[in-house]
Amino acid sequence: MSVAARTDPLAYLAGELDELKRKGTYFRLRVLQDEQAAVCTFDGKRVINLASNNYLGLATHPKLREAAVEATRKYGVGSGAVRTIAGTMSLHLQLEEKIARFKNVEACVVFQSGFVANAGTVSAVLGKEDTIISDELNHASIIDGCRLSRAKILVFRHKDMAHAEEQLASVQHQAGRKLLTTDGVFSMDGDIGPLPQLCDLAEKYGAIMMVDDAHASGVLGRNGRGTVDHFGVHGRVDIQVGTLSKAIGALGGYVCGTRELIEFLYHRGRPFLFSTSHPPAVAATCIAAFDVLEQEPERIRQLWTNTNFFKRELGNLGFNIGGVNTPRSETPITPIITGEGKLAMEFSRELFEQGVMATGIAFPTVPEGKARIRTIVTATHTQEQLEQALEVMGRVGKRLGIIG
Ligand code: PMP
Repeated sequence: MSVAARTDPLAYLAGELDELKRKGTYFRLRVLQDEQAAVCTFDGKRVINLASNNYLGLATHPKLREAAVEATRKYGVGSGAVRTIAGTMSLHLQLEEKIARFKNVEACVVFQSGFVANAGTVSAVLGKEDTIISDELNHASIIDGCRLSRAKILVFRHKDMAHAEEQLASVQHQAGRKLLTTDGVFSMDGDIGPLPQLCDLAEKYGAIMMVDDAHASGVLGRNGRGTVDHFGVHGRVDIQVGTLSKAIGALGGYVCGTRELIEFLYHRGRPFLFSTSHPPAVAATCIAAFDVLEQEPERIRQLWTNTNFFKRELGNLGFNIGGVNTPRSETPITPIITGEGKLAMEFSRELFEQGVMATGIAFPTVPEGKARIRTIVTATHTQEQLEQALEVMGRVGKRLGIIG
């Protein structure tokens, strides 16, 4: 029997990709061929790596490696089930208890990633009678959680407290719960969410207060306890989300709060209920990472020394590192704004050719006209590596007319 010729129903995707190529924002994935480190090999080329979230160098820390290997030997490579069926191992509970103590909260639940921690929590806690008031630059995983919840979504201008209050006031007499949510550190601009003011507003309007500390965990606060500790607003943030995939060096996300919140997420957090839990190696690695945060505070100090030096020198070179029409970074994430997407991609490509890895980021990840390369320094960069990167960036930036 002959099979009738079938036209490919996905053929339109080629057209979409052509459109990205025409705009100059099409990319290929760069492939890392050795460890995630300050200097490493992507696509066969040695580069100074300004693109990873491995803030403290924990992705390759000997104690974490050892913990992963030992857990694998002892418990195997997989958990075998979702948490609610048969996939809760004692290591998962140990990790959650450790994080809860570290964060000074009643309880914690770990998810498979920071992304699903946000999306799974917002969509579980809120429903279609409710309203979410959300900063316009919040991470995609919060946005997806908002959409999945089917709640009404009111977006406020970035860190604009008057606008946030206006949005809260507009629904204060409506039925339903309100959730006020912000990133602790904004991932594309590196600025910090105004937690004390947001807590004031949440309290004034009776809203649930939530912060996503993906880029603040391990970076801000005592021993990297995050923005709640940085601002001293303990007890005023109802839902603290964090990631285990960035400064912690492995993979995962977590939610901290009251025992009731965590138990509720056991019952209604869909990624918790319907997706297999972490392999033992990941849980054991993360447990070791929290020990390192307590035992090696010099890593965070070095991260900030490197951050301050690099940011200052980028500014001295004349780059637009935010602050005019864009937020001003206050953390190890420093964007260099080029405006046009094509130029950001060209800058990133040229830097790579010259031995510096910094990712170009364009619409829709950042607003149209605010394309950039994003740089992230880590505790493991040496002064020489940062100076070398700055020399290359200055040279390429001049050649492309990004700086004068
Ligand atoms: N929130 C923010 C602000 C992020 O930048 C990220 C990572 N891009 C996430 C959440 C998701 O974290 P994970 O990589 O652990 O899924």
